[in-house]
Amino acid sequence: MAKVLEVRDLHVSFKTYNGEVQAVRGVSFDVNKGETVAVVGESGCGKSVTSQTIMRLLPSPPSMIKSGEIMFDGKDLTKLDEKQLEKIRGAEIAMIFQDPMTSLNPTMTVGGQITEGLMKHQKMSKEEAKKKAIEMLRLVGIPSPESRISQYPHQFSGGMRQRAMIAIALSCAPKLLIADEPTTALDVTIQAQIIDLMKELQEKVGTSIILITHDLGVVADIADRVVVMYAGKVVESGSLDEVFYQPKHPYTWGLLASMPRLDQSSDQDLQPIPGSPPNLLNPPKGCPFAARCKYAMKICTQEMPETSDVSSTHRVACWLQHPMAPKVEPPAMAVG
Ligand code: SF4
Ligand code: MG
Repeated sequence: MAKVLEVRDLHVSFKTYNGEVQAVRGVSFDVNKGETVAVVGESGCGKSVTSQTIMRLLPSPPSMIKSGEIMFDGKDLTKLDEKQLEKIRGAEIAMIFQDPMTSLNPTMTVGGQITEGLMKHQKMSKEEAKKKAIEMLRLVGIPSPESRISQYPHQFSGGMRQRAMIAIALSCAPKLLIADEPTTALDVTIQAQIIDLMKELQEKVGTSIILITHDLGVVADIADRVVVMYAGKVVESGSLDEVFYQPKHPYTWGLLASMPRLDQSSDQDLQPIPGSPPNLLNPPKGCPFAARCKYAMKICTQEMPETSDVSSTHRVACWLQHPMAPKVEPPAMAVG
């Protein structure tokens, strides 16, 4: 399958008064054409920092890309200057956020925000762009788009703003859409509509999606592959089925047991993972999950486990994969 994006051994740090926070520590993953890759993990695991680094949205300083590559269309995004990035942002890679107000311009009409990109990136005339903007708003299910395009974001409801943001993001048919918690702030019905909409548009436009979320119900619904992050590292990755139904990493087990899922009845108990992630000002030298892991062995605190292949698509970084390690069965609930 054609690769749209290759993230290779990415390291991103933040300078703080207390020292350097190593937010992303050697993250690698690929995104293929037309697929949805979900990046999951607790807050602070580095998933948003990774996605914002792909878009090069983080100010430097305080953020620093320490090393690694982000290959997109033959270009290493970590090496581009602001002018080159301008051409890619919005046109080839678009992003939608949890809070549409952070990406919508409150002083500009919704239509204007769609036509701006179309005129800039696709060299459309004003008239063509306006026609396309109406079409995009209709596509995302905004009623009477002809009159809506001249309204401002504050005249839209929350769900409508989310749709408008998606319309803006997809208007230039980007190769890659990065969606960071796109439905978290919405009620369940609208959430489902937005997810359906993303799926539909993906089929129509062929866009690849990176979905950053902590909502495993949404992941189950839309993802082809899943990347599990913990303490700035990818601890497990694989197809949706591999990560959801044959998870190998104790953190993934904990995550699956601790998070509400749409496909689970609500009377099942959720079990939060006891403890908290390590301080990334001074990350542990061994497995970052060791302090919270029921299965931790001596070596876990001494050495970082290497990433091993469970299958050609399924990878996991855990000492339990070592041939000498004891055989451990995942708790039943995690794979339910
Ligand atoms: Fe647990 Fe050790 Fe695996 Fe880390 S490497 S998740 S501490 S068993
Ligand atoms: Mg986040």
